[in-house]
Amino acid sequence: MPPAVVNFTYLVAAVLFILGLKGLGHPRTAVRGNLLGAIGMLLAVVVTLLDRNIVGYEVIIAGFVIGAAVGAVMAMRVQMTAMPQLVAVFNGFGGIASTLVAGAALMEATLVTSAPALQMTVATVFSGIVGAVTFWGSLVAFGKLQGFVSGQPVRYKGEQIVKVLLLATALVLGVLVVMRPTGIDLYWIMAGVSSLLGILLVISIGGADMPVVIALLNSYSGLAAASTGFVLSNNVLIIAGSLVGASGVILTNIMCKAMNRSLANVLFGGFGEIQEVEKADDVYAGKVKATSPDEVGMLMDGAQRVVIVPGYGMAVSQAQHAVRDLTNLLDSKGIEVEFAIHPVAGRMPGHMNVLLAEADIPYDQLKEMDEINPTMPQADLAIVLGANDVVNPLANTDPSSPIAGMPIINVDQAKTVVVVKRSLSPGFAGIPNPLFAADNTLMLFGDGKKMAQEIVRAIKES
Ligand code: NDP
Repeated sequence: MPPAVVNFTYLVAAVLFILGLKGLGHPRTAVRGNLLGAIGMLLAVVVTLLDRNIVGYEVIIAGFVIGAAVGAVMAMRVQMTAMPQLVAVFNGFGGIASTLVAGAALMEATLVTSAPALQMTVATVFSGIVGAVTFWGSLVAFGKLQGFVSGQPVRYKGEQIVKVLLLATALVLGVLVVMRPTGIDLYWIMAGVSSLLGILLVISIGGADMPVVIALLNSYSGLAAASTGFVLSNNVLIIAGSLVGASGVILTNIMCKAMNRSLANVLFGGFGEIQEVEKADDVYAGKVKATSPDEVGMLMDGAQRVVIVPGYGMAVSQAQHAVRDLTNLLDSKGIEVEFAIHPVAGRMPGHMNVLLAEADIPYDQLKEMDEINPTMPQADLAIVLGANDVVNPLANTDPSSPIAGMPIINVDQAKTVVVVKRSLSPGFAGIPNPLFAADNTLMLFGDGKKMAQEIVRAIKES
């Protein structure tokens, strides 16, 4: 195939990737964005296969069918709450593919010449190291989130020294590979050392921080892919890998900011360990007021503006459809309903937007934290549905709290707050929440979905 045609198609694919990423920035355009990215990838794959007709198509088709079947089954069966694990596995596969392809390319090149180009050998070493770190790091992240590996950070004396030594060993081996590319065994030893480094890097981070680590590993998998693009002299792989690398870093940064933590603190700080915090009894004793769906129904009937703050519990209880029914009912009574979306509510970025979009809740009812906060004092009723940390006022008032400085949704400023959850158990950060004991707060204890349905029933019966 003429190189001009190949490169032009790659350019079209790259434009589609960029338009796809832009579309993914908003729920309204996300589906179209996803489709544009997928079309770009299809174009890139088809043109590459037609251009580099070196392996029999049977092998490629067999790999494609098996891979697509495994991927489709995994994606269809996964629970929404387990999505971060799935992303971790996909990142890991991207990393190991880069390591294996770069290694195979080096083996192939050294069959033809004992001195492949410097660009190729350096890129091969980079792919080998970063890809192996990504694969094993992602597997550990998966294990922690799935409960196969302890969520506690594994800490030991001299751990930073061990990691620095492993990195230095991998780099020295990498330099040897660049100097003597025919010594392919060294490449695989280097990949092995990097694998150990990947395991140790992630095992020392608490399970609680895994979503941030996964965003970072996503970025690493992109860098490894871009580097493999240099190994294979494939422009579209360089572009696609760079886009993944850059977007992963941006996402990591957004998540760190939303938790008011630095990346260094996530990677080396050991958040997620069981912390010494104020006893829940001291915070709640004698101050918590329970309510019932009937009482909440009456409160809603008398309200003009209701703000719903969804959190992880809405995802666990799959309450989004019941919440939609409640919203429609309140709309029909002329009551204004808005959703306050915190950037890290739930367990992955955009978690709440996805669930609410799935239930066909109009996007213009979804308000970002910065937009809704100044209007919270004008809310007659704030319904906190399975959210906890993202509405915890300790973030503003207690500098020693693990969530100190994390921006929160100021529900405590609403006239009345109803918190829907099953118990007084803490959320992700493991700390009590004084909101539950505030004068203007009522606790509706129960499963999120069931309680939303009960409130709908109560309003209809009143
Ligand atoms: P939290 O984890 O703070 O709290 C969720 C609450 O949901 C729990 O207190 C739990 O209480 C309740 N819950 C669980 N199951 C149900 C159910 N079936 N029905 C009703 N309630 C239920 O969630 P938030 O969304 O407020 O905060 C997210 C946390 O996750 C933050 O700390 C954030 O930093 C962290 N995080 C988020 C990431 C992201 O990308 N979104 C990434 C990394 C971390 P109970 O058991 O009593 O019902």
